Amino acid sequence: MFLTISTTGSAQRPATDLGHLLHKHPEKAQAFSTSYGTAHVLYPEADAEHCTAALLLEVDAVALVRRRKGKGRGGAPDAALAQYVNDRPYAASSLLAVALGSVFSSAMRGVCTARPELPGTPRPLRIEVPALPARGGADLVRRLFEPLGWTVTAEPVPLDTEFPEWGDSRYIRLTLLAADLTLAEALRHLYALLPVLDDAKHYWVSPDEVDKLLRVGDGWLPAHPERELITRRYLSHRWSLTRQANERLELVRLAEADDSEVEDLDNAVAQEAEADDEEKPTPLAVRRREAILGVLRASGAARVLDLGCGQGQLVQALLKDPAFTEIVGVDVSMRALTIASRRLKLDRMGERQASRVTLLQGSLAYTDKRLKGYDAAVLSEVIEHLDLPRLPALEYAVFGSARPRTVCVTTPNVEYNVRWESLPAGHARHGDHRFEWTREEFRGWARTVAERHGYAVEFLPVGPDDPEVGPPTQMAVFRLGTPKEAKAA
Ligand code: SAH
Repeated sequence: MFLTISTTGSAQRPATDLGHLLHKHPEKAQAFSTSYGTAHVLYPEADAEHCTAALLLEVDAVALVRRRKGKGRGGAPDAALAQYVNDRPYAASSLLAVALGSVFSSAMRGVCTARPELPGTPRPLRIEVPALPARGGADLVRRLFEPLGWTVTAEPVPLDTEFPEWGDSRYIRLTLLAADLTLAEALRHLYALLPVLDDAKHYWVSPDEVDKLLRVGDGWLPAHPERELITRRYLSHRWSLTRQANERLELVRLAEADDSEVEDLDNAVAQEAEADDEEKPTPLAVRRREAILGVLRASGAARVLDLGCGQGQLVQALLKDPAFTEIVGVDVSMRALTIASRRLKLDRMGERQASRVTLLQGSLAYTDKRLKGYDAAVLSEVIEHLDLPRLPALEYAVFGSARPRTVCVTTPNVEYNVRWESLPAGHARHGDHRFEWTREEFRGWARTVAERHGYAVEFLPVGPDDPEVGPPTQMAVFRLGTPKEAKAA
């Protein structure tokens, strides 16, 4: 069983801080004995820019079966041989979660006495699990991790690469990326969700598991859209414990909803100000918002969707203009929506203002009835966050199903990247970008979408339009039912 945790860094914030956070020195390979076998921690790479910690758990399958004898629920009754020949040694399951919890217990609690400032600071994280048993498949994996702020890649592992016709196994290869989570949050997500996906806990679930789940779920589980499934599976379908856990989580959720601490918002604002500093005099993000507002005003839209609204900056700008009577922000990330709602001070807003704005959690990769019937939709810097194979699903959900009269899409122009001094050649602007397109690629995509769904499309530059490489941001404006395609600007 194998899992890696990677981060990136710089001379000022070295990636090797990961060693401090995990309390495991990058230059040493260490072994820890657990009740199911030996856990090894080693670092395949460790320098200021890149650092990866690997957790390898060698499971003693025979000891596992012996321990299990006579202990309450142990999954379905296994045939004698299957007890000894099983997937436990290979696949990342509840055993790996237990190993994570014991080997990295201080990291999971967010404790680092030597460098107390480290655990609370989010850093870019990449987690890979090459073989994860996933009951519910890639789709469930996304529903579990995306609302927590992860970008998820879940690829089914074929049963046998030499015989593709045999189809996929029940395992997936999982990659998780996040830019604004702390390591402690990441470990707590894994600790709770690996066994949920495995759905075959290897040990007896005792009543104190409810307390444990509430502890690791602190800050993310109470408002998670899949909370019921998570508690049910984590507690091995023991109904009385599941009910007890859900009641307690609901109380926490209600208390948190009242909580008006604005710490996250302040952080978000500070981060934005920092990011904005890079691009004087007018930050690109501001120019983008102005360009989008211009398009929306010109279209005469009153009811507007901000799809992938993130932390709500555009929603906030739209609220300032009374021409927009109904504004709906949609995002897959609960974390982003929480920050957005604090930014907008939704809980302290007057009734009239509040009636103009709604924040919805949802994934744009699925059609959603709630999004039908709007005048306009914005996809600002969103499409590049989806894996290319999932883009047609978004395309259908927006242009095929929701079908607003106007759709405004922005995305980076990769040709412009050579003009960013701070960007190393060949790098995307953001670690989460799945692709960045040239002007030709973006236009090709947009024209196909427009044609397929009966829209006309026009292209506009955002930011300085460089004669050679074009503008930093490219924008396409789609209009429903306009007879012929408007020409490129
Ligand atoms: N529109 C904002 C935020 C862009 S960042 C802006 O212009 O500043 C991209 C956002 O898209 C993130 O908040 C991310 O959570 C969201 N996102 C990514 N994939 C999504 C999906 N499948 N469904 C809904 N939102 C998604």
